[in-house]
Amino acid sequence: MAVFTTEGIILKTQNIGEADRVCTIYSPGKGKIRAVAKGARRPKSRFISSTQVFAYGDFQIFSGKSLDGISQAQLKEAFPRLHDDLIKLAYAGYIVELIDKMVGEGAGDQIVFNMLLAYMRVLSETHDPQLVTVAFEIKIATVLGYRPRLGSCSQCGKKRLGPGIFFSPESGGVVCKECSSNEFGLSRVSRGALRLLEALLMAEFAKIERIKANRETRREIEKLIRTHLGYRLNQRLRSLDFLDAVINAP
Ligand SMILES: [Zn+2]
Repeated sequence: MAVFTTEGIILKTQNIGEADRVCTIYSPGKGKIRAVAKGARRPKSRFISSTQVFAYGDFQIFSGKSLDGISQAQLKEAFPRLHDDLIKLAYAGYIVELIDKMVGEGAGDQIVFNMLLAYMRVLSETHDPQLVTVAFEIKIATVLGYRPRLGSCSQCGKKRLGPGIFFSPESGGVVCKECSSNEFGLSRVSRGALRLLEALLMAEFAKIERIKANRETRREIEKLIRTHLGYRLNQRLRSLDFLDAVINAP
């Protein structure tokens, strides 16, 4: 029976049977791992805190017949402040679903892992979860090879974009006014939004909350990056509905 130990972050959990919990773990070496923690939902289980969603820990995994199993789990960080704040919880839920959909099994990546861990830590403490989340989105898109083209037209390559700039998910970046007429229904983007996205891409997570941005520009970049990622993923993530409901709650 093959056994290995890895650090990881729990992206999602699913209850099965009477007391078991199947965990999807993102690990730096092996990418996504699905493994069952037997009896994890029992009140006295040794797995109770280490197999919760967002938990960061060391996991010992053994290969099973149909599903791998978790034989040991050592919690390193639980991010309790995420669980205490509904807005942060909703952002974190969206980001773990994004990672779950964007990375495959067996596709580990130390940079993606470090970025997710850094995001969780900064999100726990920040007073600006919105900008921190957009920063994660643009950084992860860049690391995974989907960096949106922001400095020149994605169709004709023109660098001086003039007064009208649009975003084309299909082209993966901004397009000039002339090229925008080739596609129907493109959204206009402001220069301020493009500058903000560049600033978020360049800044370290810990320094993001120092960046100032007004409400309108924030909405613009959120829409842009989510349209971009949604097009690459070819689906709308379910966690976005929860996020929208939480953000727009009266
Ligand atoms: Zn153009």
